[in-house]
Amino acid sequence: MNFADLGLSDELLQAVETAGYSEPTPIQAQAIPPVLMMKDLIGIAQTGTGKTASFVLPMIDILAHGRRRALMPRSLILEPTRELAAQVAENFEKYGKNHDLKMALLIGGVQMGDQLKALSAGVDVLIATPGRLMDLFERGKIMLTGCELLVIDEADRMLDMGFIPDIETICSKLPTNRQTLLFSATMPPVIKKLADRFLSNPKYIEVARPASTNTNIVQHKVAVQTRKKREVLRHLLRNDNVSTAIIFANRKTTVRELAKSLKSHGFAAGEIHGDMDQPARLAELQRFKDGTVNILVASDVAARGLDVKGVSHVFNFDTPWHPDDYVHRIGRTGRGGASGRAFTFVSPEDAEAIENVEKLTGGKIPVYEMPAAEAAEAPKAAVREDKPRREKRERAPVREERPAPREERQASREERPAVREERAPRRESRGDEQRRERRADGNRSRRRDEEPADDGWNGPIPEFLSVSALA
Ligand code: ADP
Ligand code: MG
Repeated sequence: MNFADLGLSDELLQAVETAGYSEPTPIQAQAIPPVLMMKDLIGIAQTGTGKTASFVLPMIDILAHGRRRALMPRSLILEPTRELAAQVAENFEKYGKNHDLKMALLIGGVQMGDQLKALSAGVDVLIATPGRLMDLFERGKIMLTGCELLVIDEADRMLDMGFIPDIETICSKLPTNRQTLLFSATMPPVIKKLADRFLSNPKYIEVARPASTNTNIVQHKVAVQTRKKREVLRHLLRNDNVSTAIIFANRKTTVRELAKSLKSHGFAAGEIHGDMDQPARLAELQRFKDGTVNILVASDVAARGLDVKGVSHVFNFDTPWHPDDYVHRIGRTGRGGASGRAFTFVSPEDAEAIENVEKLTGGKIPVYEMPAAEAAEAPKAAVREDKPRREKRERAPVREERPAPREERQASREERPAVREERAPRRESRGDEQRRERRADGNRSRRRDEEPADDGWNGPIPEFLSVSALA
């Protein structure tokens, strides 16, 4: 299958060739023709399968004809995070270089002035996060009645971040005869309901089982005591041909402290987590992309959907509490056909989480045998395949063996949302705790998005973050 078989224009094919893609990915091959035929579409494919180009490419051809009008964007792409919005904008710049299309990016944490100027001059494509868009809409600065094409990208992430009500509102402001495309890695019931309500007779494309993992990724789980995790990580970073790695941890505190520890051991490490403001996150991401650092320690929310080329390794310093996150995390490697390696650390604390991951992915992750020195203290029980569920007592938090330093305890308390549920009689599950943290993250970014004053950005605006003309 070639890009040329999909019905795209010559100008576009030329831009695709320049970008270096020789063949469409399966989701691209299946999605592009119906999108060009102006059909509604649901595209389900795991992270890293090229969903972005499957809507950006046909959109460029669809929008090639038609006139821009002041304050009325011709198409709208909704993205859950600013980083993802910026990546889609980069894609439009890359593939749209032979077209006269104007684009605006509407995201929180960046000056609104230039964005408004572009909107009033008229844009073909508006890429926005729901919070900022709602804010502008409520202030009457934008009209969605001329918007004939809507893309809801990374829908499952939108759900995680609490954006579904905003999306419903936005959908109801768009003309009903529009074309709507929805992309997601998974299809939870809430997303299905959203699609039923706002898409009409959509073509449904699913290129892999939801939440299945990419076969280009070699996966391992590593049995390790909590207090040995850093040491084992350093060993793997030094000995597993790591060129670039993203290391995921479940807590922001762990992200910060792990990055600090790695740096003190001479690694070129950066960090990205939800407590950093937008310029800091982008700057850190840029340092990783341009190779200033080759290791990025990340939390799930901050790293969601990031497209960084050529990550050789993903390390799950903690097994994610949410099994879906496992798929998203390891999807950072093995992208675009390259192969990658994913190591998941499993301490006794992670035992329940890894069971849930394996239930979701539908298979046991092979155990990585550490060389003797590192394996000495590894608790084999944590990754035993054959044993029935162990007693709660055996999975007691490591905290009981060795109390966390005071600083860490305080920090993790600070991270909890305002509502104190610590004294609740029933100990809530880790999943709940993380969901709450996420909700808090989502709310925080919403608040930032809604801030009328744009004082969050002082430095120069990177090219892809400002308004740009695609010519
Ligand atoms: P998704 O949204 O499905 O997670 P992306 O659209 O971010 O995935 O693409 C993942 C990676 O694959 C990106 O680095 C992108 O440049 C690359 N890619 C996309 N399409 C192709 C293709 N046809 N050939 C090679 N690489 C591709
Ligand atoms: Mg994507």
